Amino acid sequence: MNPQYFFKEDLGWIKEKKLFLFFDFDGTLVPIQDNPSSCMLEGKIKSYIKRIVSNSLADVAIISGRSVEDIKKRVNIKGIYYSGNHGLEIRGPGLNFIHPEIMPAIKLIKNAKKVISKYVEQIPGVFVEDKHLSFTLHFRLADKEGKRLAKSIFKQILSKEFHNMPFKVLKGKEVLELTPLIDWDKGKAVLFIIKEIGQEYIPLYIGDDLTDETAFSAIKGQGITIRIGRSKNTDARYYLRTQHEIYNFFKKICDIIEKCHKK
Ligand SMILES: [Mg+2]
Repeated sequence: MNPQYFFKEDLGWIKEKKLFLFFDFDGTLVPIQDNPSSCMLEGKIKSYIKRIVSNSLADVAIISGRSVEDIKKRVNIKGIYYSGNHGLEIRGPGLNFIHPEIMPAIKLIKNAKKVISKYVEQIPGVFVEDKHLSFTLHFRLADKEGKRLAKSIFKQILSKEFHNMPFKVLKGKEVLELTPLIDWDKGKAVLFIIKEIGQEYIPLYIGDDLTDETAFSAIKGQGITIRIGRSKNTDARYYLRTQHEIYNFFKKICDIIEKCHKK
């Protein structure tokens, strides 16, 4: 089914239960930037989230591909949940989780990172981000030839020197990531958080990338799923046209949940 434009929907029905808002970070709460180390949560969005959390209107989690330490630093709001490395690590009120099956892969991923970095860091506009449990190869800033070369080195080194190892490659927007081979993703992390907290929620998930599709599928039929950017190839029920519409999203959601709260 084609997703519907979010602002055309009347979400009156969400009054029934408390909402749990799950947000991806890059490309969702903040625009994608050439240099991922320069993204910080913008003041207005931060105030919306603080307003939601401090009035107990909804629970909030940020589910990012960055490391949990990194994402916490960039958002810096107390009382919410943070999940890094696409769900492999989760921290928040009463929750401190790291996936128990990652250990065999960690050392190997570090080795692969070392070898791959040595070759790709010569290419202008290409760099490697260490996320402790995984790493990301960024090539957004490279020219066409640089992108091709970076991807090809990444692939070749993995297939020659790290064949059949316990890790998998995730594709994102102008990035490739190497992460432990575990049956775990953002969708499973969302369900895990809700289960651990043990309350009845309507989950709402909003994201912009392929890895967010696992969350759209996980809560399909029981919550609100929103993709940033219109596409037919998505499990999301709704879409926002651009990342900038996140401001209107917050306005609409705050209006609805504040009204419910007054009753
Ligand atoms: Mg994203």
